[in-house]
Amino acid sequence: MSLPFVFAWNPTMSTNGDITALARPEIRSLKAYVPAIYKDGLVRLNANEAPWTSGTDDSARGLNRYPPARPSALTAALASHYDVTAEQVFVTRGSSEAIDLLIRCFCRPGLDEIVICPPTFGMYKVYADIQGASVREIPLIERIDGLQLDTQEIIERWTGVSRLVFVTTPNNPTGGAIAIDDIQRLANALTGRGIVVIDAAYIEFATSDELMVLANRPNIVILRTLSKAYGLAGARCGALIAHPDVVSLVARVMPPYSMPTPSMETALAALVEETHKVMPERIARLIEEREQLAAALDQLPCVVRVWPSDANFLLVEFTDPTAAIRMAEDNGFLLRDFSNGIGTENCLRITVGGESDNRELLSALQKLTSSGATP
Ligand SMILES: *Cc1c(COP(=O)(O)O)cnc(C)c1O
Repeated sequence: MSLPFVFAWNPTMSTNGDITALARPEIRSLKAYVPAIYKDGLVRLNANEAPWTSGTDDSARGLNRYPPARPSALTAALASHYDVTAEQVFVTRGSSEAIDLLIRCFCRPGLDEIVICPPTFGMYKVYADIQGASVREIPLIERIDGLQLDTQEIIERWTGVSRLVFVTTPNNPTGGAIAIDDIQRLANALTGRGIVVIDAAYIEFATSDELMVLANRPNIVILRTLSKAYGLAGARCGALIAHPDVVSLVARVMPPYSMPTPSMETALAALVEETHKVMPERIARLIEEREQLAAALDQLPCVVRVWPSDANFLLVEFTDPTAAIRMAEDNGFLLRDFSNGIGTENCLRITVGGESDNRELLSALQKLTSSGATP
């Protein structure tokens, strides 16, 4: 009997403290590719690069050169920004790539599973499907503090093939934050048996962002991104923050030179003090705008309910979502349709835009009556 199969059926399997024991055996034994090195002051004749730069190249490094195999300066900058050590950080092309890397590292095709808590972000299931991992759904439950994890159920239904549970806080598409105590309890209960992946893409917009205290737990991985609050979705820069052993494991799967020089330089520039000094003020203004938009939407005849949000968007239940989408489009706005999703029936997700966009959207939706017809 092969070792992987033993892992598959033994529900009491423990990792004896080494969380990477949960990873696919072929990844644990994988030898990473050895890339051409940089050495200060030496000309690189070791990587078959061109000796000239392209006429449109305005990068500092020169796009004729490969980027460093790993973006170590950016890693250090993100580590200091998130207040962890560089050994705890792995830079990814957006945090979506971190989701993919984790599933590829920990889930054996056809054997292992991830746990997700719908309604939630759709990419977890897509990456699991690509990897051939199964997806166990344990829906969020309604409590007085909003939609929350069903920790009890997740723990009870955790098996020897469960590997990762994805916790999105604030959650997408519903917008609410997940109680940190529950996340902590879940991680404790899964010690040695599973990893809690906290997808914190919108945490900058939340009332409480105390999440990073969890970064030192061996079975917690935190995903951060510059795509949302930092306004750099186009640069594709995310960070996987985890125990150094998990970081080294994930690093084996990522090809060298994967972070493009322009993205690296843009992200680094955004993390310098002068640039991110403006962030708290921008975020505060967006939150204010979100609250005003939520209150105004709540007054509209076509709106049934505005979900409480800790993010930069609002999930809104409409009497007639199709009519609302059409009205928005006729007035120049695209909204995201979640009306067919389980738990988000008749709901649309509205990103909080600029002030004038929000006003214009409101006055467009104002034209809809409660039956969805235009008066
Ligand atoms: C937007 C988003 C991401 C991040 O995407 P990037 O790849 O970093 O651009 C991750 N998780 C959730 C839940 C998101 O909504």
